[in-house]
Amino acid sequence: MTALYAADGVDFSLVCDGCGMTVDNLGANLHNWDLAWSLFRRHGWVGTQSTGGPHGCPRCTSQATAPSDR
Ligand SMILES: [Zn+2]
Repeated sequence: MTALYAADGVDFSLVCDGCGMTVDNLGANLHNWDLAWSLFRRHGWVGTQSTGGPHGCPRCTSQATAPSDR
């Protein structure tokens, strides 16, 4: 559960599988998943090209080597 599409099938959100951080309203600005994901990868997100993920936000991936202290 990584890319969440809105009911209209156009707008979508990116969800981090690590912490659940959600980036909303991507469809309005980036129009499609491939474009959105290529942009997020440049900003430190990691994961697969697939909308099914898993995907991790920069905050999670930068802490990947440290044990969770939450
Ligand atoms: Zn995260």
